[in-house]
Amino acid sequence: MHPYFDVHCHIGMTVSRAPVVGQSVGRCLARMASANVIGAIPCPTAGGPQARGVLDTRTQNETIANACRLHPERFPIGLGIVEVRHEQVGVDELERTMQEDGLVGFACHPALSGHSLGGELHAFLEVVAMHDGLCLLHQAGSTRNIAAYAKRFPSITFIIGHVSMNKGGHLDAIEQCGMCENVWFDVAQKPEGADESWDLVHLVNNLGSDRLMFGSDLPYYDFRLVQNQIETARLDDEIKERIAYQNAVRLVQQFRQDWLPTLTPITPPQVYSQEEMWDANGARLY
Ligand SMILES: [Zn+2]
Repeated sequence: MHPYFDVHCHIGMTVSRAPVVGQSVGRCLARMASANVIGAIPCPTAGGPQARGVLDTRTQNETIANACRLHPERFPIGLGIVEVRHEQVGVDELERTMQEDGLVGFACHPALSGHSLGGELHAFLEVVAMHDGLCLLHQAGSTRNIAAYAKRFPSITFIIGHVSMNKGGHLDAIEQCGMCENVWFDVAQKPEGADESWDLVHLVNNLGSDRLMFGSDLPYYDFRLVQNQIETARLDDEIKERIAYQNAVRLVQQFRQDWLPTLTPITPPQVYSQEEMWDANGARLY
């Protein structure tokens, strides 16, 4: 099995849906260790606690920054999160966390963070653009909106999260964003059983193999299913290696030029049982 680097990894709790779901830094490291994931770009979970408003967002951002500080070899860069309804104070918090905490941008989740990938994110994106940063955008409806962002904010590198969860999204991303050089893609939650009109080979043939990356979408998804698809796909080994971790290493090095991946296994801080790491309802982790 190849080493993997995960560009789509949430830490914290999603409390806005029942049952709640989440993971600590330690449980994240345990899951990574048990499945040969050698590093990740962490970001907060969407739908986190908001009783204190933007102060809660600040705490969520600081959790990611602390993980990066404590484990720079595994978490070389991290992302914050934004909530559209925080408006200017949310923009200010993003500026703060990039300046003070060293996060390189933000992740956001349309359904859980109150936006539709339209103009309401421009003020947040402008902050990231001024730092030549990174944004992980979850696909929502047409990827045309992300292509428009990519054009409007050329200094930002975008990752489209779980670009191939269904055939419609897969084909739309190819059509709208295939030619956008500052848009990269992760294959989190790629379901098994896609036919050749939208399988991994089709994705590589249409998006190329330079900007396609592995993503886990922890703590929601048993990402070992996606690893298995990559390992067994009818693709050259060299291309599998690029998707598994080499492209992600190149992406990270845009932001941390001196960072090199540590290929030895992670030692997690706690011995989690198999059930604690992998209990799931279908592909959905608890
Ligand atoms: Zn996600």
